[in-house]
Amino acid sequence: MSLKHRDEKVIWHPFTQHQTISESKGIVKGQGVYLFDESGKSYLDMISSWWVNIHGHCQPTIAAAIYQQALTLEHVIFSGFTHEPAVKLGEELLKILPSNMEKVFYSDNGSTAVEVALKMVYQYWKNQGVARNKFIAFDQGYHGDTFGAMAVGKQSHYFNAYEDLLFNVNFFPYPETWESDNNIEEKERLVLNEIENYLIQFGNETAGIIIEPLIQGASGMRMCRPQFLQALEKLSKSYGVLTIYDEVMTGFGRTGELFSCLSANTQPDIICLAKGLTGGFLPLAATVCSDNIYQAFLGETFSKALAHGHSFTANPLGCAAALASLTLLKSNETQEKIRMIINFNRGKMKVLNATAGIEKIRSCGTVLAFNLKATSTYGSAFSLNLRNRFAERGLLIRPLGNVIYFLPPYCITQQELEWAFKVVIEELEGIKIC
Ligand SMILES: *Cc1c(COP(=O)(O)O)cnc(C)c1O
Repeated sequence: MSLKHRDEKVIWHPFTQHQTISESKGIVKGQGVYLFDESGKSYLDMISSWWVNIHGHCQPTIAAAIYQQALTLEHVIFSGFTHEPAVKLGEELLKILPSNMEKVFYSDNGSTAVEVALKMVYQYWKNQGVARNKFIAFDQGYHGDTFGAMAVGKQSHYFNAYEDLLFNVNFFPYPETWESDNNIEEKERLVLNEIENYLIQFGNETAGIIIEPLIQGASGMRMCRPQFLQALEKLSKSYGVLTIYDEVMTGFGRTGELFSCLSANTQPDIICLAKGLTGGFLPLAATVCSDNIYQAFLGETFSKALAHGHSFTANPLGCAAALASLTLLKSNETQEKIRMIINFNRGKMKVLNATAGIEKIRSCGTVLAFNLKATSTYGSAFSLNLRNRFAERGLLIRPLGNVIYFLPPYCITQQELEWAFKVVIEELEGIKIC
């Protein structure tokens, strides 16, 4: 029996309505930017397998690093114990993050990295006897699917079923922008005014702000300007509010620099990392914070400590993969590829501008996105149909509602990018969108 049929009998997939999506493609092999299914068909992975894979599939030096580590130390409890890969990875991350980042807390995935950040912010104030318990987040933001992450991501509307169980969060519009948007300064001013008015009233009760910096991923690659993040930083600092950057998607080169806080030249108090951290090999995440946050958790009793930890915290295999991935990421070869993708994106913005049926063309670093004028929601028949058409042509692209985006592994070639772009336009023409 084929993999997809055996799968159907026993598996429940993530973010999937099983009544309308009846089968999953059985993937048997990955190599570089390509995935191969059980019938031998290949797919060019233009979304880095849900944004995690930054160097291509089965990248040999990462694979070798994991193998070597597995022969040395596969895992050890991380409370009361430590190990070389975790310490080394902490050191390496702190070298490339903003200088105010001083402590690394490990977990397993983006949602838990966010969960940890929210708990850090909440307890930071509580430990000092300060009554600040309000959170600010942004409309349509997505921060993962555990309860705290769902609460701050409630306006993504993926989680309406759980609404009654989510803690209260104050949401503000995310000033999204695109090519030839001549209204952006006004949009930013309105949002900043709204936030300031809120802070004038509730600033001394507000614990923290969480934002996806420069790009809101799951809501459809909505992009904001660095200027907005700089103004937001000024505002939050003046009210003593802590800022969390959810860089789970934007980290590790997506916005051009290694992190979007570097692209935006801002210094958040906490940064959440996951997805690209291990190059897409293993689930590992980090919540990195400034020293004053860490200091607020010191005390004579456990009650002031951060009550969080997972069985697989700082898994050595994950840390070894991350170290190998970071070395690759910082190499001249990868940095050149990133510049090539950025230039490709800039060039295609002009082409897209002249194409009918699409709007809000935008790019930030290695991410290129645009909206189809046709309306569509997440998982709708329209976007599923498009997804299937792309797959037929050998392209892994998952439209987010009416948004088409490219988020490729950095090992992709310019020829492959050109081919993917051509196929996308042809398929959109095929259904009379363009
Ligand atoms: C994917 C994502 C998360 C959640 O990460 P998981 O590893 O899927 O739990 C959180 N925040 C952002 C910005 C993301 O893109």
